[in-house]
Amino acid sequence: MPIATVNPANGETLRTFDELGADGIERCLAAAVSAFRRYRTTDLPERARLMSRAADLLEEDQETIARTMTTEMGKPLAAARAEAAKCVKAMRWYAGHAEILLADEYPSDTEVKDSGAARARVHYRPLGAVLAVMPWNFPLWQVVRFAAPALMAGNVGLLKHASNVPQTALYLEDLFRRAGYPEGCFQTLLVGSRAVEGILRDPRVAAATLTGSEPAGRSVAAIAGDEIKKTVLELGGSDPYVVMPSADLDRAVRTAVTARVQNNGQSCIAAKRFIVHTDVYDHFAEGFTARMAALTVGDPMADTTDVGPLASEQGRADLEELVDDAVRRGAAALCGGGRPKGLDAGWFYEPTVLAGITPDMRIHHEEAFGPVATLYRVGGLDEAVELANDTPFGLSSNVWTRDPGEQERFARDIEAGGVFFNGMTASHPALPFGGVKRSGYGRELSGHGIREFCNITTVWHG
Ligand code: NDP
Repeated sequence: MPIATVNPANGETLRTFDELGADGIERCLAAAVSAFRRYRTTDLPERARLMSRAADLLEEDQETIARTMTTEMGKPLAAARAEAAKCVKAMRWYAGHAEILLADEYPSDTEVKDSGAARARVHYRPLGAVLAVMPWNFPLWQVVRFAAPALMAGNVGLLKHASNVPQTALYLEDLFRRAGYPEGCFQTLLVGSRAVEGILRDPRVAAATLTGSEPAGRSVAAIAGDEIKKTVLELGGSDPYVVMPSADLDRAVRTAVTARVQNNGQSCIAAKRFIVHTDVYDHFAEGFTARMAALTVGDPMADTTDVGPLASEQGRADLEELVDDAVRRGAAALCGGGRPKGLDAGWFYEPTVLAGITPDMRIHHEEAFGPVATLYRVGGLDEAVELANDTPFGLSSNVWTRDPGEQERFARDIEAGGVFFNGMTASHPALPFGGVKRSGYGRELSGHGIREFCNITTVWHG
């Protein structure tokens, strides 16, 4: 894939970039190591000062970077502005909390004495240069979610961003440089995915994090495994959205639309499979379909647009294949199911609701990365739990019920990294984020996220 900005709303190539060659990569790795040597010993207040400065700059740049993101990957401009604001918040959160999250821990005196020590503590040290392989869907947030905790922990970052968001990638490097981070602390490497193996195998790279598809995750994890390097993987999801009879149905319907079409449907934590109790199924299906059909699809720069284009032609082709396969095998399209009329230049797809899904359809097991919802009818709690778990993924889940007993059951039994009751999944700096099964492993955000790339050191005094 060429490294280029191609506007998904009209297919126009706006800028192309030369890929970094072997010499360039070598320079970046050398700079990262040299930066780490100095940066690792900076104190937390100094790191917080730098991170806060980066947050202030990003806040000033909100409109410009939002327009860049929308131009590069097609999310509605309002969503791009919100993404930038969310990044500012996370940077400030880590600037304010890292010192507490990374404070030394002291096991109890009794336990320490039992180990033969006069005293002992647990001390969090950085690992080194961390390679971040990142996707285009939240081109700023996915990177900041990694960079804010990693830099606060004293690591340095090497960003290999998706090839279709090079301007956002370069902006990030520039942001941290302008904030005053020492040269080499955060670098963008404009390289394609083929260059990842060499970089990851380099002894100067300590660890890696990847957000993206299963094949990309498998490849990075295999190489890192071969090199015995720590990885965090945040891969796809096919989150269930369960609606039980005690739900506030009007809210459940309204939220379902947002949960499915946020970011033009291209979010790993979007609700994708709508599992509805038979007592409320007809009401839910009718309201949900009507609202999905009424969404405005069009120019992502326009304030009136709800759903912009998909980020790439390939992404739309993949989605079309999934829908066509389901319809061929007997699914009914309650709305949508094709390309919207009059928007031929861009990679648009209609908001779509599919009913009558069966396990032989690919969409039952695969992630639909676009504005396509699948609807299932279930007879009771056990069936809802079973269907929610009938997926290779386990990122998050949404359940609408006001029954405390049902809530306990879902919280205990849904195989996912999150269970959100009476609302939609969202990430927040204070809460851990990540999945199980093929959605990946490790956690981002919160104290769990910042400690992923730490050397958790036992300091023991005899
Ligand atoms: P990819 O996983 O291909 O891209 C994500 C990142 O990984 C990009 O930086 C990409 O680089 C890089 N990459 C791709 N292949 C490899 C590899 N073998 N080794 C190392 N790095 C690699 O996602 P796509 O854009 O192709 O999307 C495909 C599907 O992935 C989507 O339909 C969706 O299901 C899932 N996805 C999930 C995301 C999430 O948020 N969890 C985000 C994006 C996609 P390059 O751009 O240069 O190829």
